[in-house]
Amino acid sequence: MLGHLPIMSHLAARPEQHEHPAGLGLASLAGATRRELGAALAEVGVPEREIRMRVAQLWHWIYHAGATSFDPMGNVSKVLRATLAAQFNLSRPEIVAEQISRDGTRKWLLRLDPVDRQDKGAEIECVYIPESDRGTLCVSSQVGCTLSCSFCHTGTQKLVRNLTAREIICQVLIARERLGDFPGSVPPDDGLVPGDGLRAVSNIVFMGMGEPLYNFENVRDAVAVISDGDGLALSKRRITVSTAGVVPRMEELGRETGAMLAISLHAVRDELRDKLVPLNKKYPLKDLLAACRTYPGATNARRITFEYVMLKDVNDSPADARELVRLLKGIPAKINLIPFNPWPGAPYECSDWETIERFSDIVFNAGYASPVRTPRGRDILAACGQLKSETEKLRARARLAAG
Ligand code: SAH
Repeated sequence: MLGHLPIMSHLAARPEQHEHPAGLGLASLAGATRRELGAALAEVGVPEREIRMRVAQLWHWIYHAGATSFDPMGNVSKVLRATLAAQFNLSRPEIVAEQISRDGTRKWLLRLDPVDRQDKGAEIECVYIPESDRGTLCVSSQVGCTLSCSFCHTGTQKLVRNLTAREIICQVLIARERLGDFPGSVPPDDGLVPGDGLRAVSNIVFMGMGEPLYNFENVRDAVAVISDGDGLALSKRRITVSTAGVVPRMEELGRETGAMLAISLHAVRDELRDKLVPLNKKYPLKDLLAACRTYPGATNARRITFEYVMLKDVNDSPADARELVRLLKGIPAKINLIPFNPWPGAPYECSDWETIERFSDIVFNAGYASPVRTPRGRDILAACGQLKSETEKLRARARLAAG
């Protein structure tokens, strides 16, 4: 049955995204979808009638057990394991650097596999935020970003490319492994990971680098794998996709993923929002809010989060707060006020604490939950909008911090 093994050049000719072009090493199945695993098994000669069963086995090992090689897969025959290992591996992007904030926030710089011979391997950042009742992993969906929001550091880096679904999923695998979430993996001994048998990674937010809705298909496939009950098994209610407002994709996101939605709002008038979030020129507030009103599955139990970054003397007046309340009328919403996180050369300052409180009170008195997001990991530039994968800068900062 396994007599006709395809040769590597054949492999390289196929279009699936988990494969390397010839000569760049074996293709990894870590982060593969069920369909991709099925294709890989067919590729190595597994008969059609066995594929479902074999996919289920691989799925369990990769996503439930966190396997990084085929060796421990005791219920898969030795011959098939060897055949798979000749063609594929289960490698994940490499952790190039790990920074740990005083508050336990961790930032990993990950190097992705090269996509061609010229590519040295793009780098992305991924952030883990532990809290008493949850651990949130903030994943990136693109290398860089095209949106150029004027207050966001990531926005100053130009887009390199979309992440594949497997590169998004691998961020979760890497975090689970590093934080001791898989059976047999060891949590770090610095005491900064939640204990008591809680899963270290309980929530996922697509709030890292990139605009998830400009990489819709891969984000959708990644959400399906991450929420699959036989594997990583995160509830969809604990997966939030944040968008700056790519209106034409919002309905599809709700319908096809069932993920929670967050909107990076930041301004209540088009004139200002055009400046802060230039995407607003394409999809103005009226259209954005209309898409929120009809977002599939939004209910009082599943509210849409509106993110609002507090910029001193820019968007933080009581009139802004009142207008925000008026705009959101009728939308199942919660409002997340984010103190602006400064970065070198940023053209804004964070609002004063009293101003943030006054804003929050107006929103709260109108009946909305309005938690102020505590800035996390500021000391390692891991907070919202501070992500920028320039290894050199990162290393320079690390040297500075150490010295
Ligand atoms: N492109 C998507 C996903 C990125 S989310 C989106 O815009 O929603 C990143 C979140 O951090 C967004 O709400 C963004 O507006 C916010 N953010 C960006 N820069 C920030 C900064 N310097 N301080 C605080 N929040 C910031």
